Amino acid sequence: MALQWAVSKPVTCRYPFEPRVPVPGSRGQLEFDPTACTYCTVCAKKCPTRAIVVKRAAKHWTIDRLLCISCGYCVESCPKHCLELTTDHGTPALTKDREYHAAP
Ligand code: SF4
Ligand code: SF4
Repeated sequence: MALQWAVSKPVTCRYPFEPRVPVPGSRGQLEFDPTACTYCTVCAKKCPTRAIVVKRAAKHWTIDRLLCISCGYCVESCPKHCLELTTDHGTPALTKDREYHAAP
């Protein structure tokens, strides 16, 4: 058995030198399409952690990435299908700034 393990391929990868292969169906970063959004505020009302804040009159959509738990409620509730949970992980942040999107 020791010989078998010695010649078999490692189960881990040499990240970050080798790209991480995402597990299919895993929940990663939330993506937002500002071109389809109507700023209806449904996603913000459904978000259990209040990560999303939408200002309808000003047409602002913001998210606090540190509050998002990738539950997917906002994706399921968006009537315009402009939210998507990807399998990617975001770039690590040094500050707690909200990510801001305005109407294009
Ligand atoms: S639910 Fe969809 S359309 Fe409504 S504000 Fe959120 S992202 Fe925009
Ligand atoms: S995935 Fe869940 S926690 Fe993250 S913004 Fe959407 S509703 Fe909020």
